[in-house]
Amino acid sequence: MSLPSNFDLAITGGHLVTMAEPAEIEQGSVLISGNRIAAMGADTDLPDWTADRVLHVPGMVVMPGFVNCHTHIASNILLRGLNEDVQLFEWLSTMWKLKRNFDPETLRLASLVGLAEMALAGITAFNEHFDAYSVTPEVTALGEIPLRATLGYGFADVGLYASIADWSYGALARFGDIVDAHHGALDGRLRVALSPHATYSCTERLWRCCDEVARTHGLSVHTHLSEGEQELRFVDDHYGQSPTAWLASLGVLGSHVTAAHCSMLTAADIRQLADLGVRIAHCPVSNAKLCSGTMPMKAVLEAGITVGLATDGPASHNTLDMFQEMKFCAITHKNANLDPELLPVGRMLALATRDAARAMHLEEVGTLAVGQLADLIVVDVDKPHTAPVYSVPAALVYSSRADDVVHTVVDGRVVVENRSVQGVDVPALLRELRSRALALRDRSLA
Ligand SMILES: [Zn+2]
Repeated sequence: MSLPSNFDLAITGGHLVTMAEPAEIEQGSVLISGNRIAAMGADTDLPDWTADRVLHVPGMVVMPGFVNCHTHIASNILLRGLNEDVQLFEWLSTMWKLKRNFDPETLRLASLVGLAEMALAGITAFNEHFDAYSVTPEVTALGEIPLRATLGYGFADVGLYASIADWSYGALARFGDIVDAHHGALDGRLRVALSPHATYSCTERLWRCCDEVARTHGLSVHTHLSEGEQELRFVDDHYGQSPTAWLASLGVLGSHVTAAHCSMLTAADIRQLADLGVRIAHCPVSNAKLCSGTMPMKAVLEAGITVGLATDGPASHNTLDMFQEMKFCAITHKNANLDPELLPVGRMLALATRDAARAMHLEEVGTLAVGQLADLIVVDVDKPHTAPVYSVPAALVYSSRADDVVHTVVDGRVVVENRSVQGVDVPALLRELRSRALALRDRSLA
């Protein structure tokens, strides 16, 4: 392979954790041209090179950025900590009261806070299931803090969300315009998806309509599926089957679908999801907090289903922190199966990076390899809470914290340098969001 003589960005002297082969390189560098990894390897093996910019990170971990394959930043930030100790449907009802009073500037600020939190926690790409009104504010925010995102347009037409039925069908009718405006925008970092909300909030007509639009434009579908007992009861009462079986009977499931949660699946559901190639976004912290059940990880992995890790929104997880998610995921499933060998540390890291990227239909991120998009992070593992580090993957999964992320690079751009979000006054942003959030709470829940 012939290398360019000069690179745009070099990250040097780190301990590379690649999520590819070889899995780790003890002292190596990643050389970036434009938005892609152009060369990488052990420092002793790389030929002489120069770079416009060098981040020298001796002793630190260089790894793919985390991929958060199911979240809701703009709306959910505004509910964080406001509605604790309740069940899912009560939680959704409070969320809805707030949503009716949203304004674009508050949503832009909430989006920026979510993006800043993720960038500082090493999340470089995310799969947003979002609401109609937050489209413009969130796209604006992504221009300011440039993460990689798939924005799933949220649709519903029945139950709690019946009032957005007309909007949903209207938006679906002109979805070609939305695709033209946003799909591939922001230098290719932005993608568009369809997000029918759930089985209990979308009728058969809406599911079929979303499916047709998705297939017409070659887009992915990102929904919630089998999230708790109430959904199971609703679908059984109305359609006499499980949520998975009902959607499969409509013909709307396939490999283009990311199903978040799946915390209550039967053996038949698992077979059906595997046969159809549906991908799962697993949100263990949110599921446990809202008592939505435990996704049957062992059976799902044995069935060969692609599973990625995700935080869900910051109202049901309270942080956008994939370190917390990895640790909780591993210990939850080990204990539930009484099997300490389930989800070894390397596999756990893959679920949060490479596999999460596949779960949200991104093929070119999630690993450190030549030719991949340059989405990567640098993590300091030289800390009292990680010492003495016999195994870097073990430190990352069980001991590291979001605050240990030092640099975050997305699409070849340094978005966080030395724990500072580039170009953003974070303390001022937090002050402004807090005052607007308190006003929103007071006018919504009075
Ligand atoms: Zn969700």
